[in-house]
Amino acid sequence: MEDMTVEQKLAVDKFHVDEEFAHIEVDKDADPAMIARLVKLCPAGLYVIDENGELTFDYAGCLECGTCLVAAGDTVVKSWSYPRGGMGVEFRLG
Ligand code: SF4
Repeated sequence: MEDMTVEQKLAVDKFHVDEEFAHIEVDKDADPAMIARLVKLCPAGLYVIDENGELTFDYAGCLECGTCLVAAGDTVVKSWSYPRGGMGVEFRLG
């Protein structure tokens, strides 16, 4: 287990996706510089610029680390909360 990469450890996590409640909502028209910051910072790679240069975001793979909230606050992140009870990420290797 000690020789596993971060990506290998994350690959065994399980996600209980709450299809009825987006625990993070984003402003796709926010400052492009702040969006670019989140593209680099989100450890799950959920902030992505598509081929049209627009932000795509999917909360389904969120690790609930709070980095996007701290790094961009309300300039990109319109709302942030933990998923409802029993939902969200289930870490398996810490
Ligand atoms: S809380 Fe962490 S993993 Fe989830 S979207 Fe924000 S930066 Fe990415």
